[in-house]
Amino acid sequence: MAQPGSSKIVVLGLGGTIAGTAARAGDNIGYSAAQVGVEQLLEAVQTLPVVLAGRALVTEQVAQVDSKDMSFAVWQDLALRCAHWLSDAAVQGIVITHGTDTLEETAWFLQTVLQPDKPVVLTCAMRPATALTPDGPQNILDAIAVALDPGAQGVVAVCAGVVHSARDVQKDHPYRLDAFTSGDAGPLGYVEENTVRWVKNDRKEAIPSMKWSLDAIKNIVSTTPWPRVEIVMNYAGASGAMVDLLVRDGVQGLVAACTGNGSLHQDLETALMRAQAAGVKVLRATRCAQGRVLPKVGDTLPDSNGLSPVKARVALVLALRAGQSAGTA
Ligand code: ASP
Repeated sequence: MAQPGSSKIVVLGLGGTIAGTAARAGDNIGYSAAQVGVEQLLEAVQTLPVVLAGRALVTEQVAQVDSKDMSFAVWQDLALRCAHWLSDAAVQGIVITHGTDTLEETAWFLQTVLQPDKPVVLTCAMRPATALTPDGPQNILDAIAVALDPGAQGVVAVCAGVVHSARDVQKDHPYRLDAFTSGDAGPLGYVEENTVRWVKNDRKEAIPSMKWSLDAIKNIVSTTPWPRVEIVMNYAGASGAMVDLLVRDGVQGLVAACTGNGSLHQDLETALMRAQAAGVKVLRATRCAQGRVLPKVGDTLPDSNGLSPVKARVALVLALRAGQSAGTA
């Protein structure tokens, strides 16, 4: 759907709870995600023309998935559609309607691969479209306000009026409408009555690793299978058994969700060092919800440079895919 106008906003539909439906309007948890098309979602946002102020709106249904089932195939399609629209000079920004479960992983994937100057804004909802008071329409409106804001750039997430960076955003609540946090880094800004109030001056994401060309993005589309990277966790009584099994099963990368400042049970650490010596790429991240692993003299396994375990996994997948020895920023 394209409407006339001098510049345009593109809304890409991916599914999630925001597009979910329940049999009963009062049911906020017993619903099926990814049922309603993106055009229909936008029709529910009655004040959209006010925010768009004459700009054209383009919608595309890229996928229709519950984001707990997110796949590399969907990421490939999404990256290509984003790259296509970003190269259109008339496009001011992109909004992506997404499930909340893996939103932070998609955000980091897109930020790493696209490193866009224009805004790419992921939004979502915690209640289905059929809820008594769905949060999706307001979140969409807020996301479009961010996409139109001259101060916005790169991949960000917008939920419950809060703007988060791709690096810091993390789902930290399974039910609350304000389900995301930027941890101790804090949010980038807030959306208030269609206006963005930035609270951080430096909003450019520093990713010293590769910027992917359109050809490189197309290349990853044709790659199957993607590198296999798994996450193992440290906990009381942890052992190296899982790591040894995964190495025997051909894993190419391992992210350790460590305790505290990157600490590991000695048996798990020994197994990870064995894996590393055998050619498996290993990264340490912290399982703590806030903060990052601080590198120190004597570390035997590299840290994730502040990325959470799930984002470190995305970084390792992409680094292995690009044939790099390290891809974290
Ligand atoms: N399972 C849903 C999804 O991630 C949850 C949500 O969107 O809130 O697609």
